[in-house]
Amino acid sequence: MNQNDLKNLTIENARYLLDSRQVSSLELTESYLERIDNTESDINSFVTVSKDTAINDAKNADTLIGSGNQKLLTGIPLQLKDNLCTRGIRTTCSSKMLENFIPPYDAFVTEKLKNQGAVLLGKGNLDEFAMGSSTENSAFQSTKNPFDITRVPGGSSGGPAASVAASQCLFSLGSDTGGSIRQPASLCGVVGLKPTYGRVSRYGLIAFASSLDQIGPITHTVKDSAMVLNNIAGFDSNDSTSLNVPVPNYLETIDKGIKGFKIGVPKEYFHEGIDPEIEKIIRDSLKVLENLGAEITEISLPLTEYALSVYYIIAPSEASANLTRYDGVKYGFNYIESESMWDGIEKTRQFGFGDEVKRRILLGTYALSSGYYDAFYLKAQKVRTLIRKEFEDAFSNFDVLAMPTSPSTAFKLNEKMDDPMQMYLNDIFTIPANIAGIPSISIPAGMSHELPVGLQMMSGALQEEKLFQAAYAFEQATEWHKIKPEI
Ligand code: GLN
Repeated sequence: MNQNDLKNLTIENARYLLDSRQVSSLELTESYLERIDNTESDINSFVTVSKDTAINDAKNADTLIGSGNQKLLTGIPLQLKDNLCTRGIRTTCSSKMLENFIPPYDAFVTEKLKNQGAVLLGKGNLDEFAMGSSTENSAFQSTKNPFDITRVPGGSSGGPAASVAASQCLFSLGSDTGGSIRQPASLCGVVGLKPTYGRVSRYGLIAFASSLDQIGPITHTVKDSAMVLNNIAGFDSNDSTSLNVPVPNYLETIDKGIKGFKIGVPKEYFHEGIDPEIEKIIRDSLKVLENLGAEITEISLPLTEYALSVYYIIAPSEASANLTRYDGVKYGFNYIESESMWDGIEKTRQFGFGDEVKRRILLGTYALSSGYYDAFYLKAQKVRTLIRKEFEDAFSNFDVLAMPTSPSTAFKLNEKMDDPMQMYLNDIFTIPANIAGIPSISIPAGMSHELPVGLQMMSGALQEEKLFQAAYAFEQATEWHKIKPEI
């Protein structure tokens, strides 16, 4: 397949081409590997390209298709964020600490995709341990935005979002703790879904903040997103927070339309810091939804303003605990020229972790330390409960809420690296969904100065069907998802 054909390909139409034998998985896979070869020097979205296993997966997929036993994702080339464990393939978290870590097991989602016969092209770059909003915190490389390679792709799933936007793969999986799927999806003009907390098993996702982390798809279209979620969601006894409830077939309800849908628009998401062009694009998008039959109502969620503060206490606290395991003893980087055991542990952490990770460990350790625990951690947990309750109340009156995904479009590389607060503010609209554990999607909704703008929608817990319905209706009525970068 030629490179331009890849640009218009979705999982849905690739499935058709594979099943009607117009293309084999091997041809498709080789085309993507060639595309990666041609574009990687500009985009830097892969930490590892697993060429040999990809070719092998593709040949196996062709055998399956030949025997008529293919599934929805058989033969479909994909990427996985490099914090998702892949047996036998390096999984680095874009950290020096795990630079040479080869997991002895697969994440639940990796196994699910393998069982489908999907083709793994490689591992996507991220901010170290998923901490960041620009992918510049990777210990290895900065990923570039395919729409403008002088700009960031967002983060922390910048590799996954950029690789889908640059048509280096048909889809990728990211992780979202405070916006890491949706914000990069918005900045790269693709579809990013954070499912309900517990909808997708976190087994084999290298932990950042365990009460917030969730895995989800980054795709070209809403239908592709539903197809992927159908195949990665579900109960897993290896994750005690995974929800033991049936997974609906999201494709069955996706095209039901949104006549009579009640959509709430929280006014707190249109504050002064938001780029006026983004505000206009989102307001225009609301009109599109209204024309499709939805009822739009402005509402107020006054606790929204506390979400960012709550997040920057809870997430670092959990991270400080989760990251204690990197001591150079069990696995990962190990500073060998140490004088004693304690010196070894200290130096391993000093040289193994980057600055942002250390900042989070310090913040979290401080918030959890005796004397500060009640004032910070406990207080944050209480406010979290109130925020969750505020959303629950909203969803007793509304099907979905709509708002911008990010207050800005893709910013310049290095623009915010010296100012962590500015970087943190980029997630102000995405963090509340993680705090509340509810699903949320970002879809392409416009362009500002030739850069993509995302519309975000949230729904009540386990109501992903409603998100897909609304997002699909919007996508069918607009052309934004068809705009591809030049590259
Ligand atoms: N950007 C946020 C942070 O730095 C969110 C990251 C994420 O969702 N993994 O923590």
